[in-house]
Amino acid sequence: MSATDTTTLPDYAPIPRAALGPALNEQGYYVGRVERNLYYVTDGTYISAFLTTSDGVVVLDAPPTLGNNIKRAIDEVAAENGVSNKVEYLIYSHHHSDHVGAASLFDKNVTRIGHEETRNLLLRDDDPARPPNEETFQDNRSLEIGGERIDLAWHGANHSPDNIIIHLPDHDALMLIDIVNPGWAPVFQSNLTEDIPGYLEAPANALAYSWKHFIGGHLGRLGTRDDLTLHQQYMADIAESSRRAIDTVDYTPYFAKYPDNPWAAFRGGLEETVATAAAPVIEKYTGVLAAADVFTESTTFQVLQSIRLDLGYGSWVHP
Ligand SMILES: [Zn+2]
Repeated sequence: MSATDTTTLPDYAPIPRAALGPALNEQGYYVGRVERNLYYVTDGTYISAFLTTSDGVVVLDAPPTLGNNIKRAIDEVAAENGVSNKVEYLIYSHHHSDHVGAASLFDKNVTRIGHEETRNLLLRDDDPARPPNEETFQDNRSLEIGGERIDLAWHGANHSPDNIIIHLPDHDALMLIDIVNPGWAPVFQSNLTEDIPGYLEAPANALAYSWKHFIGGHLGRLGTRDDLTLHQQYMADIAESSRRAIDTVDYTPYFAKYPDNPWAAFRGGLEETVATAAAPVIEKYTGVLAAADVFTESTTFQVLQSIRLDLGYGSWVHP
């Protein structure tokens, strides 16, 4: 294995204080109350949540980086409040391993609930760390567990084909994973999103519900409605700037330089288009959204592809 010389690595803008979550304990996690008997647990990069009820604990996602710290957090909260620490239900937000890859840590008899496509994808992936959910739904499902209401809803593909909204109306909370990272820019390619039109629409679907606390699945803190609005503005700015760049960047010099290599010409032109589109957005959001300087180009690349390929913008038919 070769070690990277850290002196050659780029420097990035400082992280705004408002983006940071609470300090972690010695085990590397923080557990905090969302509202009443709903709690969240974070390792600073991933977040999951759990609900303590008279019918046992309901766990919402099990990221492997948190792993057994989810159990420690549950034990800690249950002991403090004199309630059961027995996990009876596990709800999957979507099938991705980085959010549910610790699902097998829980008892075989736990009731696993998720979208029907989550089950299909988990059967396909056949990963022993992620037992497929036996309980499924298509568009909506309301759960009542130990007197607590949990509403599940699927609004179409976005980050993944099976990503759902988990609304806890009696806790003023909504969980939607891998769409908005409160305080932070999305990681690579709009949080590694498969369906950009669905991704762009998802925050509005979440904002249509009544809630105060947002659980986004990443980084160290919970979100607010303002975090979703800021994210929407950031993505809208990327889309608008992408259209402008598609309209203005000239590919001619690249085709002149590489007359027999259209892929080389396309790469040069596209990279200039992406850099042109991303530059004003990076400038606007540096100091506002953490890591805007790290990932805006990557997200712009993918949004720009969606504008070209899904929306047909800038498409030109040979006369
Ligand atoms: Zn994911």
